[in-house]
Amino acid sequence: MKVLSVASECVPLVKTGGLADVVGALPSALAAEGVQMKVLLPGYPAVMDSISNTREVLHDPNLFGGSARLLECHAAGLDLLVLDAPHLYYRPGTIYLQPDGRDWPDNPERFAALSWIGARIGAGALEDWQPDVIHMHDWQAGLCPVYLDDMIAPGMRRPGTVMSVHNIAFQGLAPMSRQVALRLPADGAHPDGYEYYGQINALKAGLMQADRLTTVSPTYARELMRPEFGMGLEGVLQRRSDALTGILNGIDTGVWNPMDDPFVHTHYGAPEDKGPNKDALRAEFGLPEASGPLCIVVSRLTEQKGLDLLLAALPALLQRGGQLALLGTGSAAVENEWREAAARNSGLSVHIGYDEAKAHRMMAGADAILVPSRFEPCGLTQLYALRYGTVPVVALTGGLADTVIPASPAALNAGVATGIQVYPLSADSLAVSLGDLVRLFEDEPTWQKIRRNAMDQQVGWDRAAKAYAALFTELVTDAA
Ligand code: ADP
Repeated sequence: MKVLSVASECVPLVKTGGLADVVGALPSALAAEGVQMKVLLPGYPAVMDSISNTREVLHDPNLFGGSARLLECHAAGLDLLVLDAPHLYYRPGTIYLQPDGRDWPDNPERFAALSWIGARIGAGALEDWQPDVIHMHDWQAGLCPVYLDDMIAPGMRRPGTVMSVHNIAFQGLAPMSRQVALRLPADGAHPDGYEYYGQINALKAGLMQADRLTTVSPTYARELMRPEFGMGLEGVLQRRSDALTGILNGIDTGVWNPMDDPFVHTHYGAPEDKGPNKDALRAEFGLPEASGPLCIVVSRLTEQKGLDLLLAALPALLQRGGQLALLGTGSAAVENEWREAAARNSGLSVHIGYDEAKAHRMMAGADAILVPSRFEPCGLTQLYALRYGTVPVVALTGGLADTVIPASPAALNAGVATGIQVYPLSADSLAVSLGDLVRLFEDEPTWQKIRRNAMDQQVGWDRAAKAYAALFTELVTDAA
């Protein structure tokens, strides 16, 4: 089976968010399932500088205002199709933003071009490779199925299309006056097509027109159909609910491996052996010895992450001998709140900054991780924590709900619990959960069992790869 992945970012070449991790991880995980996946990426400077031995497989003299070449190559273990269109992608700044921090004004055209070339490949433009399925990621690839359906004439083979939502907050809006410039068929400019209240909405276009839709966890798939989470597209997702599935992301279990982690003080394969890492973590954060659980937060400091609720609930942990080490960055106001709280509490230590190595040491040294997010499509830190035998205390939302088995009496009796879920999410219920955490921590045999269960969870990409492969196969079989 041949699959073309169309995306605006891909680890390790270019990353601004979790989307890049999924796009970069899936090809090798899917290879084990018999899927050959090629990734179509824009030729940003970072991408162009990392590729060599390229072969031109397509030339387009007028791709949205300039000439473009499609270059096939192999880099970082990936089969790539790089869209070398300097007028669109070879620029300073970040991949979406100008150096002054504003969106590039031609972002709609830049990613329409990516989608256009994805559609051309799907319609058979390459001499020796036509995909069976096109896998499109987020709004940047959303117009692909619109172009594809326009390009496929009767009798031509049309690949199946799958649209994946990683972040519904970004939808690729453009004024309807750009319809011709974006090469959009006039007959799609209505609420059942790509129009959203008088504007062009690239994500909506993909959600309306792709054969199948996915998002990054089963719970988030259900949540997206509700107004609190759907960001205005809940109605579209309700309509397409039969086509929508949630497939949990995995993590790179080679990079996140407590038995072989270069950042970690003492390697371990069982939670009982975390002790030296806990001492090292306390020393690194300047925390004293204490009787209660050593908790961590590794997070962006934004409204989404619910850390204002944690700040309010924190006495419930600190007064029972617990501690918190926090690593994060965000708005100056939130950073200052946490700094000030740390100055008042000896059991709280705060590091403001982004520090990958420290994040690894925190996972290894902590007893528990706190993730009280208001929404969380999948979430990664709770998955790292499970792998490191660090008990997750999470909000009952999105991927957090799907990856943590709460320590209810029934789950404790059955011996399957891996963490604690907070519901409903409020400062008060979080305080109750922090009290539960301290009690569980003091019950040594139960605590050890929960930590062992956590470490036994399968958090790699294998399961996701099987689910995507099954979805692709189903599509191809349906089409046959
Ligand atoms: P989101 O994508 O919403 O930020 P996720 O949990 O899906 O949330 O992914 C966050 C990723 O960023 C994780 O890999 C986490 O370890 C990392 N991260 C977030 N903040 C920091 C930080 N301050 N230092 C190091 N890593 C961080």
